[in-house]
Amino acid sequence: AKQGGKNNVTFYAPEMNAAGTARSSMEVGLRGALERGELQVVYQPLHDLSGQVRGAEALLRWHSAALGHVSPATFIPVAEDTGLIIPIGTYVLNEACRQLAAWREAGRPIERMSVNVSPAQFVRDDFVDVVRRALQSWRLQGRDLELELTERMIIRDVEGVSRRMAELRAMGVRLSIDDFGTGNSALNYLMTLPVTTLKVDRTFVQALEDSPGAYRIVQAIVALGHALGLDVVAEGVETPAQLLQVRDLGVERTQGFLLGRPGPPRN
Ligand code: C2E
Ligand code: CA
Ligand code: CA
Ligand code: CA
Repeated sequence: AKQGGKNNVTFYAPEMNAAGTARSSMEVGLRGALERGELQVVYQPLHDLSGQVRGAEALLRWHSAALGHVSPATFIPVAEDTGLIIPIGTYVLNEACRQLAAWREAGRPIERMSVNVSPAQFVRDDFVDVVRRALQSWRLQGRDLELELTERMIIRDVEGVSRRMAELRAMGVRLSIDDFGTGNSALNYLMTLPVTTLKVDRTFVQALEDSPGAYRIVQAIVALGHALGLDVVAEGVETPAQLLQVRDLGVERTQGFLLGRPGPPRN
């Protein structure tokens, strides 16, 4: 700790280490990032088994004037902790809907848009209205949208979450469990919550070639999903061998660097 004068003890908490400092400068930068136009949405295609583009996932990018390129894996948690994810999440939802409408306008037959949703967004009472407004603004239907949720959120406020899920499903919005198999997977929510899609985490997909265990796990996830009437998506497909394997295992959709990286929209 710093030595101050007798009545002048400088506060210098030991946890203000490099990581803490980086985090607070990130928080400062993130406030106002929207207004400064530093946040951009990029899109990664989802393909069906024939290799045709069917959908896209909206992924956020932050080009900070002060910090340069910051990965969403780093800044999304800060946005969640500070509540900034609420306006940012609404922005992503609206941008993604705008883009889907623009693609359709340009004659590109993209079936639906997938958007990541943080627990902090989904637990809010107004979340369903936020979604409804975004769809209405761009004259989209509920079925044009898939929300990607994580297992983390299901643990919180089960009643509210399940009510909101039911409302969204009644609108036709699809609900995907992202990173399936990596959370504190309790499977019981799959009995009661109106989920439509399981997204196999890329750690399993990328282990397919080397690990018989990974192969059997993906096989079991596909079987579980299909037994429950759900679509299964494999994310993180990077090699032709992985693509062959997940197609063989019977997933409905694939996503990954092999067939398409996230990028700015082309019409
Ligand atoms: P995620 O939802 O699991 O998104 C997939 C991540 O995997 C993306 O990273 C994508 O670029 C990456 N990816 C796609 N294909 C491949 C591949 O073949 N190989 C590898 N190694 N990676 C691949 P990204 O864009 O850096 O996003 C990281 C995470 O940040 C996302 O993981 C998601 O949890 C979060 N995120 C991104 N955008 C948003 C957003 O708008 N809202 C919220 N709440 N979270 C977001
Ligand atoms: Ca996702
Ligand atoms: Ca994922
Ligand atoms: Ca992930």
